[in-house]
Order: sequence, then structure tokens, then C-alpha cells
Amino acid sequence: MLTAIVGINWGDEGKGRMVDLLGAQYDIIVRYQGGNNAGHTVVNEKGKFILNLLPSGILRDNTVNVMGPGMVIDIEHLCKEITGLVKKGIRITPDNLKISHGAAICFPYHVRQDILEEERLGDRKYGSTRRGIAPVYADKYIKKGIRMGDLLFPDTLREKLEGIIEWKNLLIHGGNHDFMIDTDKMLKWLQVYGEPLMPFVCDVSDYLDDAAGKNKNILFEAQLGALRDIDYGIYPYTTSSSTLASYATTGAGIPGAKLDKVIGIMKAYSSCVGEGLFVAEFFGEEGSRLREAGSEYGAATGRPRRVGAFDIPASRYGIKVQGADEIALTKLDVLSYMEKIPVCVAYEIEEKRTDRFPIGESLLKAKPIIELMDGWKCDISSCRKKEDLPEAASAYIRFIEEMSRCRIRYVSVGAERDAYIDMDAV
Ligand code: GDP
Ligand code: MG
Repeated sequence: MLTAIVGINWGDEGKGRMVDLLGAQYDIIVRYQGGNNAGHTVVNEKGKFILNLLPSGILRDNTVNVMGPGMVIDIEHLCKEITGLVKKGIRITPDNLKISHGAAICFPYHVRQDILEEERLGDRKYGSTRRGIAPVYADKYIKKGIRMGDLLFPDTLREKLEGIIEWKNLLIHGGNHDFMIDTDKMLKWLQVYGEPLMPFVCDVSDYLDDAAGKNKNILFEAQLGALRDIDYGIYPYTTSSSTLASYATTGAGIPGAKLDKVIGIMKAYSSCVGEGLFVAEFFGEEGSRLREAGSEYGAATGRPRRVGAFDIPASRYGIKVQGADEIALTKLDVLSYMEKIPVCVAYEIEEKRTDRFPIGESLLKAKPIIELMDGWKCDISSCRKKEDLPEAASAYIRFIEEMSRCRIRYVSVGAERDAYIDMDAV
């Protein structure tokens, strides 16, 4: 069984939480894109963890975790993430963590370049996490990257790095005179943080092909959501990789494999960290109330997230581009304080109502058309069966299911592993 867990919205839908829960049914969990701009929060019997680079299966005892070639890896960050988890008693060895030799290394100069550009943009900034993600992907695609596998060949590493840094300095130094990368310093950095990671680096394709051949269950974990996809999201307020399920097997290392199932993670309201068009946004008191109720602060950066009503056109679009077979609806419990729950059912663009999510300039003109649903005004966080839910909460789920046209299989009512309802359970 090959399953992808992907985000339907702007990210932070609770993917880490659902991977942690559903991971029990899988032998292998693979992160297939992104870098340490991710912040996947997991709360389980071992404690509370925020994972940036490691797949969320790392917390399970019998799961093998793979970081695919579609990822970009800040090796200093990864070393620290591993050390932090090991200190908390999590076992991490080359048996349960495999890093693709094809994954690109995110260098300190990528981070600097990212920060410099956000600062140059000022008010027009993209809302980057400032962790070097866009520059490292750009270098990968312009073929000026160093990959994890290069660490295994120290003899040729200096030469490769020198060539790249010469190019990079020529390119960047012109506009930023204090931007000059020192090859020796970078080589030292590679040695310090690369060496401890070397035992984990391998050809993950061989490993995954073999596992798929033995009918092992593999779960592909996405970062961010459909609306941040580089090709299908709200460009340029997107990330620099593909967040879609259709990229999962490619980014993971087994491009020829076919997914059996795509589970879309969708939040019961909207949140969006950083910049970008966000039609159903709440402002003022309405926004801060929901932000506090949902603790909506970025897991990777601590930034307050923008919040708003559940957005049907955006979610339907997310479901379509993800090819989701079923949905896990998260954070329903957060809405429990609301008397009436606003839902954005359509957009108005130049006085015309539309159900479609427009990409590009017309999104700028979209205004939300809101319908109010009845709230339930009681604590639902201990509900474990669909019969436990108050009628108004069931009606809200049904409404969202019908409007977004995808079956809601799971409803999450708390951050802890068991705080969910399987809507199929009888
Ligand atoms: P991810 O990036 O998609 O993995 O999501 P994040 O971890 O960035 O954000 C989701 C946040 O909501 C985390 O703090 C989770 O612990 C929390 N969370 C997940 N599901 C639920 C839920 O059903 N209810 C509540 N109250 N919190 C949840
Ligand atoms: Mg997150």
C-alpha cells in the first residue's frame, strides 16, 4: 500500500499529527520535498515534538524513515534536530533513518541569500521562512548544487564546491559587496556537519524499490499545502518545490511507483503563515480570537499565522490538484467557542459569483461570500465516535464534505494522537 499524506490548504493543516497517527499502519515513511521550513508538530505518548526535516515516523519504534532526493537539507539543522531527539530518548540509527544521496545540501550562504532578498523586497516580501529554501532549490535546478552523496567523496568535494562558490560569488557579490563566500569555511562546515550524517546517506531508491517489491506499506509525507505548490499554488507566494501528491514518488526516490491512496489534510478553518492572497481572512478581534483558540503560531518560525473562515473554493481546488481520495479534517475542536461559524462558500469577482478558485491576478479582486453555520458551543475534544458529536458539529462536517466534494474519513478534535474520530467506524 502506497499512500501520500498531503496538505489541501496553505500548510499547517496537521499533516505531522496525521502521519504520526496513521503511521502505525506503515513500514516506511518518506519525506519527499521541502526542507527545514517545515514545522510538523506531533503530540504523543513520548511528548511534544516539532519536526522540521525528519519524517514524522521517526517517533515510532518500528518505522523506517527516508528523506528523499526531492528534499533540501541544511545539514547543520539536521544534526541539531537528530541530537535533540536522541537526547529525548528517540533512537536514530542508519537502520531507521535513510537519507537520499540525491538530496541537495542547503548551505549557510543559501540562508543568507534568502534573508538578503526578503530584506531587499521590504513590504513586497514573499514571507519566506528565511531558511534558504528558494535559493537552494534555484541552485539545484541551475545545476549548481552539492548533494548529500557528494559527502561520501571527499576527494572531489573541494573541487566541486570551489567551482560553485566561484560562480555564486560572481553572481551575488556584484549587488551585495559584503557577500563573499569562503570555500575553506564552507568545506569546514561540510566536514563538521556532514561527517556525522554520512552513515545515513545511501541510494534510497534501491531501498524503496526493494521494499515496494515486498509489498511493504509506504507513507509519503508532504510539507506545506496545495496552495503553496510551486506550479499550482499562489505564485510567487509559494514554496520552491512541488507539494503535490503527484510528486510524492518522484521526490521520494521511486518515480515509477503508483500511489494507492491520497489522504488530504484539511483544517476546519483557514490559516496561512506568511504572505500571499488569502480571501477569507479574519482581521481584528475576530482574527485574534481564532488565532488564540487554535494556537496559530508558526511551528518553524513562531510567526503569528493569519487565520480565516474555511474556504470552499480554495479547498476544492486543493482537493482537485492533490487528487485526494479522502480527507482528514483537523482542529474541529478549535471552532467550539463560536456562536455562528462563518464559511466562505464562494468568491465574488467583479460583481460575479464564482465557485472556482482563480489563480493569478483575478484572485486579487476576489471577495469572500460568507454563509453562517450554527456553532455547537461545547467541548468536543473528548468525542471519539461520530455519534458523540453534537448535531451542529455533524452538520458542519457534512456541509464541508458536500461543498468540497470529497469524503471526510477522519475528524481530528485535539492534538494528541488518539483525539480523532474515524467516520467509517461502526
Ligand atoms: P503541519 O505543518 O501540517 O504538520 O501542521 P503544524 O504542526 O504546523 O500545525 C498544526 C498544529 O495543530 C500543531 O500544533 C498540532 O499539534 C495542532 N493540532 C493538530 N490537530 C489538531 C486538532 O485536531 N485539534 C487541535 N486543537 N490541535 C491540533
Ligand atoms: Mg507546519
